[in-house]
Amino acid sequence: MAVKRDKKLEKKIAESRIDFLLKLAEQRKNSDYELAKRYIELSVRMAEKYRIRLGKRKLGFCKKCLYPYRSDRMRVRIGKGVVRITCMNCGHVRRFKIKQHTKNRRA
Ligand SMILES: [Zn+2]
Repeated sequence: MAVKRDKKLEKKIAESRIDFLLKLAEQRKNSDYELAKRYIELSVRMAEKYRIRLGKRKLGFCKKCLYPYRSDRMRVRIGKGVVRITCMNCGHVRRFKIKQHTKNRRA
């Protein structure tokens, strides 16, 4: 008889691994950029497999080439209520609206 898998537990473990890997990537990105990218690749793959939403964690790296954002590898421009983050590795541009009238207390 097959052992019953505890999917909830697996998801929990995957999530803590993702957090761990992203933290490592953050720590290593200045000393070993390639390794940091590898960590991000792994955590993104794990998130896909276990259908874990990365949410805010996605903001730490380029979603196209998966290299972590680093001050010398990105460009941030602000204008017309929009923040643009350009990845200098692949040129992918990310845009965020700056909320002006909002009831959200975090804005
Ligand atoms: Zn990129």
